[in-house]
Amino acid sequence: MKELQVKDLHVEVDSKEILKGVSLEVDKSEIVALMGPNGAGKSSLGYALMGHPSYKVTSGSIVYKGKDITQLPPNERAKMGLFLSFQYPSEVPGVSMANFLRTAINSRRDKNSLIPVGEFVKQLKETMKMLKMDESFMHRYLNEGFSGGEKKRAEILQMAMLHPEMAILDETDSGLDVDSLKTVAEGINRLMNPEMGVLLITHYQRILDYVKPNKVYVMMNGKVAKSGGPELVQKIEKEGYEPMVIN
Ligand code: ADP
Ligand code: MG
Repeated sequence: MKELQVKDLHVEVDSKEILKGVSLEVDKSEIVALMGPNGAGKSSLGYALMGHPSYKVTSGSIVYKGKDITQLPPNERAKMGLFLSFQYPSEVPGVSMANFLRTAINSRRDKNSLIPVGEFVKQLKETMKMLKMDESFMHRYLNEGFSGGEKKRAEILQMAMLHPEMAILDETDSGLDVDSLKTVAEGINRLMNPEMGVLLITHYQRILDYVKPNKVYVMMNGKVAKSGGPELVQKIEKEGYEPMVIN
């Protein structure tokens, strides 16, 4: 059985149906790309998978590790290993990067097994080095004055520190120059392991030159319009999304 299964998911926001029966699967050790034009519903799917209260599942289900999590609160999903990076991470003045990460890690642990500070700092420094981030970063307030590229690296840093088992990365490539894109892609590739699955949401094929997906889904109008192997990425680059429109 696949690690994450989305079955005929219908989702409403403010009584408006946004996802109109989405089915897809991501297994351990897989990188699955979710592509589609702006407004297709990709981010909404990410929020629904994490259990954001504004995204109401009206029918269908989300099954993770063999358990129906459709009604589970977001923190319980995070504890099970689900992780969502946000497309527009908000600024959190007064909370340093380091404190934020330590709190996030500890919130997934039991009270008696909190991460020791020394071990945390060591891990943080190593990971920042891998992502070519300056050490001064960890003392800066979360996302405050971060450039676009810095925010994206911060997302990957967050993923690296939390060791999720199913990571949903939403437009982690948007607004990055080529060097930052390569660093972020390299970070994803290095974190990838046989126990982890990644749902990589993007509307450009660009990041997929560096992070190779096993499978590709294309969303249009709140539905999966097409799915296939990595060759689908080239097809989209050549022909655009238009030929996939379904009525
Ligand atoms: P994508 O990420 O593929 O660009 P989104 O999931 O952001 O698409 O949006 C899909 C549709 O749902 C859009 O029409 C968008 O306006 C609508 N939508 C998403 N989130 C909300 C929200 N919180 N409130 C109102 N409409 C929303
Ligand atoms: Mg989006």
